[in-house]
Amino acid sequence: MTDSTPSSSARRGLIVINTGPGKGKTTAALGTAIRAAGNGMRVLILQFLKGSWHYGELDAIQALGTALGSAEDPSIVIRQLGRGFVKVGGAETDPEDLRMVEEAWEESAKAILSGEWDLVVLDEINYAIGYKMLDAAKVAEVLARKPEMTHVILTGRNAHPTLVEMADTVTEMREVKHAYQKGILAQRGIEY
Ligand code: ATP
Ligand code: MG
Repeated sequence: MTDSTPSSSARRGLIVINTGPGKGKTTAALGTAIRAAGNGMRVLILQFLKGSWHYGELDAIQALGTALGSAEDPSIVIRQLGRGFVKVGGAETDPEDLRMVEEAWEESAKAILSGEWDLVVLDEINYAIGYKMLDAAKVAEVLARKPEMTHVILTGRNAHPTLVEMADTVTEMREVKHAYQKGILAQRGIEY
């Protein structure tokens, strides 16, 4: 076998980034989470900067976690850690949002390093980094010493170059068109 031949037997945890301006970053991460859970893996989804809308995935994943695991020990868990969209463009970052992102990151780091989860999804973490609410170097430091078998997915536009560099798989969603441009508002089941 040459060095360039993929080895199908070597299992290892990957760092995956879904970024870019097109739609599909979070939904692709949720799809992977379902795939992993179906393989008997334990999955934790932590959502940064969300919380004001009720997302359908919260209920679907809660039901799935109970069905695949148990109510006491669900095998797939989703948690919203922020409190909705953060004000950007001129407005100062609210210290309360900063505190929540810090807390969300502490919880994320703990979950990744614990080795208790086969896959940890950090949804919208790239926005928190992009808004300078979270230091990319801090995230990189934890990812560099994650347990070997733990997979981590990071989502959100404008992924930080340091994280792109260390990731194994990076996908940039490209916008071809979006219903929003025609004035069509977010649709239940498709957007939330
Ligand atoms: P989704 O959750 O649908 O996979 P996403 O994670 O790629 O979207 P985010 O940047 O997290 O996109 O944006 C969240 C919200 O903005 C979603 O309701 C999504 O449908 C919507 N959205 C995503 N891309 C676009 C776009 N290019 N134009 C307008 N709205 C968008
Ligand atoms: Mg998203």
